Amino acid sequence: MIELSKKDAIRFNAASQMIPSGVQTMLDVGCGTGDFLNHFVDKSVKTFAVDQDLKGLMHAHAPKSLAYIGALPFSDNAVDLVTCMEVIEHLPHGLYEMALLEISRVAKKYILITVPYKQDLKLMLVQCPFCFSRYNHYLHIRSFDEEKISQLLGKQDWVCQSTMLINEKFDYHLPTPFVHFYRLIFIKEMPFETKCPICGYEKRALLKPINPQTHASKSFIKSLKSLLVKIVPKKKSYSWIAGLYVRN
Ligand SMILES: [Zn+2]
Repeated sequence: MIELSKKDAIRFNAASQMIPSGVQTMLDVGCGTGDFLNHFVDKSVKTFAVDQDLKGLMHAHAPKSLAYIGALPFSDNAVDLVTCMEVIEHLPHGLYEMALLEISRVAKKYILITVPYKQDLKLMLVQCPFCFSRYNHYLHIRSFDEEKISQLLGKQDWVCQSTMLINEKFDYHLPTPFVHFYRLIFIKEMPFETKCPICGYEKRALLKPINPQTHASKSFIKSLKSLLVKIVPKKKSYSWIAGLYVRN
């Protein structure tokens, strides 16, 4: 079993705490490598896993289905609880609405959704060196706050019973002109071993000798960045927000 990072342990503990008593069956949609289910301690709950990535799904220790979030291979009201953790912030228009409908259809009593909290998506842009498109480093295209989470499933006739902010942290509190300047100057190239969502270019790690000049300019930018980071004021925030929903 994969060892959890401290942050993931906090996230999973918080999510587990929100699960109402009496839940007997639980489906984790978009389970990734199944970390949440694999570390879920209440063994009286029968768990199921769904993901569209076979490589990840292979690690989930639960009955599993390789499936697309827009067409879940389950009947209506199939499980007491559907969990969907750090998934919907990735979903494009169309699929996003379908996913919320599918989750609402399959869940009998409860839905638990967790997403990153109030992410400034523009601050995490990277650029593809092939098509020059800029996109969010984590491929997140949606940001959520308390209001959005509270109203998320209203159209599907579900009511938000409670929300929880998870993992207190301190974020940089930047004035808008500074953010614009930062984005213009420090736009990052896409990370290695990732794929551009626009053109499909995949950046592979290459073993290239380091050019001393490039290295020097990079370390100058690094020190400038670390100086800026020190003087920027910070404000309290949280890593994630969770919403627990019940049928109306
Ligand atoms: Zn591209």
